[in-house]
Amino acid sequence: MKIKEAVFLVSNTDWQKCPAPDRPEYAFIGRSNVGKSSLINSLVRRKDLAKTSQTPGKTQLINHFSVDNSWYLVDLPGYGYAKLSKSEREKFEPMIFGYLENRPNLICTFVLVDIRHDPMSIDLEFMTQLTEAGVPFYLVFTKADKLSKSQVEPKVKKYRDGFLQFFSEMPKYFVTSSVDGVGRDEIAEAIGELNAD
Ligand code: GDP
Repeated sequence: MKIKEAVFLVSNTDWQKCPAPDRPEYAFIGRSNVGKSSLINSLVRRKDLAKTSQTPGKTQLINHFSVDNSWYLVDLPGYGYAKLSKSEREKFEPMIFGYLENRPNLICTFVLVDIRHDPMSIDLEFMTQLTEAGVPFYLVFTKADKLSKSQVEPKVKKYRDGFLQFFSEMPKYFVTSSVDGVGRDEIAEAIGELNAD
């Protein structure tokens, strides 16, 4: 599937105010600074659709984009940002899980992890919560350009070994880089296939 056009629709803190669930949608989430905004921009080939920021965690909003008038891309706030105030943090979980558990059109969530890191408890906990909530997810390894080609596969294998200590199977995953566009066609393809189901 080729992505032609992505348009920003609306930002919300309340899932109930999100657009009517009249099309399939796909959410992107990960730890602050994991490269989510960059990946979304790379996926839809726009420099500035999702804001890439040097001050992670600033925006705590559910952002809806319409892609090719046929599906929604949802940019969820990054989690695990240490500098959030306690009250901001307390609002975060109900907002995210309110959204994740109440969108009948949410087909799949893409959980981003930095390819350089071993499985981190914050990500594993989040994915455990997703599993418990019955929300399907795929894994996206970001910033693959930070490793040499020969390092990528061993790193993914190491991640899988750690991941499988907590989960019974490895989800579908993508190795990506927003610097050189690696992996974006595969993600678009996967979304296209799910849309066709
Ligand atoms: P977000 O907080 O998850 O939305 O992360 P951003 O997309 O704002 O990226 C955080 C930082 O990582 C920025 O300095 C980006 O330039 C950098 N970054 C994001 N993706 C990549 C990537 O694929 N490769 C490299 N080398 N840097 C990246």
